[in-house]
Amino acid sequence: MSDRPLRAAIVGGGIGGLAAACALRHRGIQVSVFEQAPALGEIGAGVFIYPNSLRQLERMGLRDALARVGARVGPASRYCRMDGSVVGPIVTTDSSGWNGFYGMHRADLLDALAAALPDGVVRTGHRCVGLQQDADVARLEFANGRTAEADLVIAADGIHSVLQKYVVGPMPPEYSGSRAYRGLVPRDRLPNWRDEAHQVWMGDGKHFMVFPVRSGQLLNYVGFVPTSSQTVESWSAVGDRDELAASFAGWDAPVTELLAQVESCFWWGLYDRRPLPAWTAGRLVLLGDAAHPMLPHLGQGANQAIEDGVALAVLLEGQGAAAVPEVLRRYEALRRVRTDVIQAEARRNGLRYDSRSGSLEQRDREIADAGRFRRQLYDYDVEAAALAFRDGGAVPAPLEAVPA
Ligand SMILES: Cc1cc2nc3c(=O)[nH]c(=O)nc-3n(C[C@H](O)[C@H](O)[C@H](O)COP(=O)(O)OP(=O)(O)OC[C@H]3O[C@@H](n4cnc5c(N)ncnc54)[C@H](O)[C@@H]3O)c2cc1C
Repeated sequence: MSDRPLRAAIVGGGIGGLAAACALRHRGIQVSVFEQAPALGEIGAGVFIYPNSLRQLERMGLRDALARVGARVGPASRYCRMDGSVVGPIVTTDSSGWNGFYGMHRADLLDALAAALPDGVVRTGHRCVGLQQDADVARLEFANGRTAEADLVIAADGIHSVLQKYVVGPMPPEYSGSRAYRGLVPRDRLPNWRDEAHQVWMGDGKHFMVFPVRSGQLLNYVGFVPTSSQTVESWSAVGDRDELAASFAGWDAPVTELLAQVESCFWWGLYDRRPLPAWTAGRLVLLGDAAHPMLPHLGQGANQAIEDGVALAVLLEGQGAAAVPEVLRRYEALRRVRTDVIQAEARRNGLRYDSRSGSLEQRDREIADAGRFRRQLYDYDVEAAALAFRDGGAVPAPLEAVPA
């Protein structure tokens, strides 16, 4: 136990960085967040918040803020074939029946997280360019010439993390062969749309999904299509709306009607990565996409980043600076039994949605079995797991993969 609060420096003010800041403050740890952008991001479209992370955010006091901007997703959610025939329901509750499932605009979630932090915690315009550390302290260097010292550094700097190289050697991403077109359409342009629904249409090598965000005022769509030419791995690259519409011509009427309303879209090249060999080096630890970037086919990227922050906060609570490297290793041990499986299952789920996981009958069976997997995923309470682990319990058993 320590007689002074630990000082944590978080690099990256995305969902992972801001959620970690909230979680750490909640447990008495001093936090500064350094974000490269001049202001917290407007870029991005829909992200899912599932029961496994919503219960954590609610405990941090965000229940009302999220209820105001989230769009509830419930039992109208379903998987369809490209012609609209229904394959089955999408699980939207945990095993207790609690529906903690929101579609959220990324900017709304970032705003809610930032509003929960006192002024001065987040420092924008700080692009981290280097790190040094010794047995006592870690020092960050920024492109603006400033420096910062802390007992630990949390690299929440996303998929193109600059701090990852201080932990592991280069890990080249693998192109998944698929590109995602994404964007938003106002709900009121589609009078017959099913409300409060996450919907997925699955075709040969492609899939299309829609869910509501911003209190249901906007529909977030993503169309996944195969391509042999690599697409840049960026959240802000502008896509071609005509190509998008052509890719889904002849699909179920709600899909083509929505696409007729698209004025502009972004595209995003989907790259896959193997689990990293390590997440920590001394006083530096990776979190969120910097630690475990995953394909988007389980919608868990933001959720796992949020879980990471909660686990770290529980394990660091009450610890002194000298204990930091060991605590960070324990955090990695606790978290990666879960995230390694989710990274792999996200890849498998994408194959299923693209009807590339065997016969169509097998795909439909796996979709049904994936419901059990989703309940396991949503039931997990990272705070309870981290408290038990902190108190001497074992690392929980890994998630059970969907049977092949
Ligand atoms: C601009 C943007 C838009 C996105 N849009 C979507 C979307 O529409 N749908 C979806 O499902 N997911 C989206 N994501 C990804 C999603 O937010 C993440 O997969 C998930 O939330 C995990 O978040 P993270 O905090 O680990 O990483 P990120 O959300 O990527 O956040 C990383 C943060 O670190 C900052 N950063 C990076 N390098 C440095 C540096 N050197 N110094 C300081 N700061 C740095 C970045 O500016 C960013 O704010 C988007 C991510 C970004 C960055």
